Amino acid sequence: MLKAILFDLDDTLIDWRNPATNWQEGSRTHMRNVFNYLSNHIHPLEDEDGFHDLAWELTLQEWDSARRTLQAPHMGDILVKTCLTLGIPAEQIDTEILLDVYDWQPVPGVVPFDDVHEVLPILQQRGIKLGLITNAFQPMRMRIRELDAFGLTGYLHPNCRLSAADVGFLKPHPRIFQAALDALEVEASETVFVGDSLEADIIGAQAVGIRGVLRVNNGFSRPTSIIPDAEIRSLHDLLPYLEEWFA
Ligand SMILES: [Mg+2]
Repeated sequence: MLKAILFDLDDTLIDWRNPATNWQEGSRTHMRNVFNYLSNHIHPLEDEDGFHDLAWELTLQEWDSARRTLQAPHMGDILVKTCLTLGIPAEQIDTEILLDVYDWQPVPGVVPFDDVHEVLPILQQRGIKLGLITNAFQPMRMRIRELDAFGLTGYLHPNCRLSAADVGFLKPHPRIFQAALDALEVEASETVFVGDSLEADIIGAQAVGIRGVLRVNNGFSRPTSIIPDAEIRSLHDLLPYLEEWFA
């Protein structure tokens, strides 16, 4: 019996194909908030561009290492490391305050896919538990702002809005999928995962026994050894597969 459907966030529920600014430019705006907070209240700093460039470099390094180890990077750790590298004493650094002043917000131009508000209510009305697993390096307390802004929070079970930053592991590591199953109190065989990445979502879900459905956003999926249980171009296409698998 189908009890739960887990979704990836980026490029599965929300569409990142047309952001109004590129990631690095957006990051610069938020890092300016952190720089201003630090230099006004904590420690004299002079070079805003240097501060941003250092944080950016550390972010790239952390992601590079995380992709190999599947230990999730965390934006808070990167901000702290940036501060320590610039000689700010550790006892003056509060990770949670840094994350607050960073002030993550929904990215202009990023919107939920049209089918999300059409299909998630149908699934919810059927009593299926819906969960989220994102490979974000921001804790969920930051990304929940997007879910709220897009009207998605209410669809997702309060125990299962998981960010890799909070869980400590990136998809496809089995621990993050298991964390979602535990949170929803369901078995892998009663669960379906929907995501746009073969390497993170599909292989990871399948490895713990969850059916993996690939959302294909650009017309076709490239050939690989990873075979999803189904490929869909709209969340509407998911419904017939659910009927077939859980008749
Ligand atoms: Mg994705």
